[in-house]
Amino acid sequence: MKTYARELVCRVCGATQPLGPVYVCDECFGPLEIRYDYDAIAADLRREEIERGPLSLWRYRALLPLLREDSQPVDIGTGMTPLVRAERLAERLGLRHLYIKNDAVNPSYSFKDRAVSVATTAARDMGFDTLACASTGNLANSVAAHAARAGLRAVVFIPADLEPNKIVASGVYGPMIVAVEGTYDDVNRLATLVAEEYGWAFVNVNLRPFYAEGAKTLAYEVAEALGWQAPDHVIVPMASGALLCKIAKGFRELAQVGLIEPKRVRVSGAQARGCSPIVTALEQGTDQIVPQTPNTIAKSLAIGTPADGPFAIHEIRSSNGRGVAVTDDEIVEGIKLLAETEGLFTETAGGVTVAALKRLAEQGALDQDEVVVVYITGNGLKTPDALEGRLNNVVTIGPSLVDLERALGTQRYEPELVAV
Ligand SMILES: *Cc1c(COP(=O)(O)O)cnc(C)c1O
Ligand SMILES: [Zn+2]
Repeated sequence: MKTYARELVCRVCGATQPLGPVYVCDECFGPLEIRYDYDAIAADLRREEIERGPLSLWRYRALLPLLREDSQPVDIGTGMTPLVRAERLAERLGLRHLYIKNDAVNPSYSFKDRAVSVATTAARDMGFDTLACASTGNLANSVAAHAARAGLRAVVFIPADLEPNKIVASGVYGPMIVAVEGTYDDVNRLATLVAEEYGWAFVNVNLRPFYAEGAKTLAYEVAEALGWQAPDHVIVPMASGALLCKIAKGFRELAQVGLIEPKRVRVSGAQARGCSPIVTALEQGTDQIVPQTPNTIAKSLAIGTPADGPFAIHEIRSSNGRGVAVTDDEIVEGIKLLAETEGLFTETAGGVTVAALKRLAEQGALDQDEVVVVYITGNGLKTPDALEGRLNNVVTIGPSLVDLERALGTQRYEPELVAV
């Protein structure tokens, strides 16, 4: 099959480099991204062909950075996750057209599988033998899983204070887990040094231009599920800000290659107040990100120096979106609200997004006629600790109807009649 990724281009100065495991511009040290031949894609790609493709993110392979015509994707079944119409949640918030993109049901239970599937495919094509990452948790899970699938060695770097479930959910695939005593930003700094020193494929360092492209499929799938239309407004959680930028890019690309009508999608970003460098800059009306030391239960979003922060700010401002920062209490309430209204259990990052949705709805910042899509990016079973002491619905009883009756606090039956 044909490939359309042509070169790497600097997001700041536009200088180009050949496709390869590099991530900074030769000229200005700016970050690189993939450049495609969009005219060729527009000429070749039809909706029907995508619809006939695999039920995974690889149905959009023309818009992903494959290095060779015979590249075989490393695919553990990621993507084509449900777009759920959220009627009960919408009603609760006074909205009319609300959808949840439930990306918590990917194989390693977060959206990171999209990015890692693309990066691992590139790493294998480039001949690397070791797959690595600096992670706030979910990325480590996904890298370990994809390395197993591809037959590569995995070394994942995490902050030592990570949630226990996220450590198990990496460990089971057999990687080397390096728990670093420090914040994610310390972990990331170390990873950058290791990438240079050891020549490993760090999916979010030297393979970052490839890695980041995977998240575009979160825009493609939503547009396809809406009958090849972009929504009016999307609400996206932000850590480094890459996910938000790539969702925005994905909708633009679909219009550029003629698969949807052009439309300006409002892009809003959500962070936890305890780590909100991007939202804080938005609130202060500046482009300057001031680094923060994270202090929040939303550990998967806890990046104090967000690499894509300035780009995310630009996407939000230029689309007339909003930045919202929510407290840890609001995060827990957000997790419960989504579960109680829609039957979906998300991790703390999803609690951030739902809490941001609620805040925007309460502020009247959402138009009744807008089609709003909320991105739920990770699974609740990864962060059960967040709910500890917050759910009070267990009643312990003896094994009899009488005991149950007492617990229910009703007297529908005469105790003698139901004695067992
Ligand atoms: C990594 C992550 C994000 C955000 O990622 P960025 O691209 O760094 O902004 C959102 N949600 C979850 C669950 C994540 O693991
Ligand atoms: Zn440059």
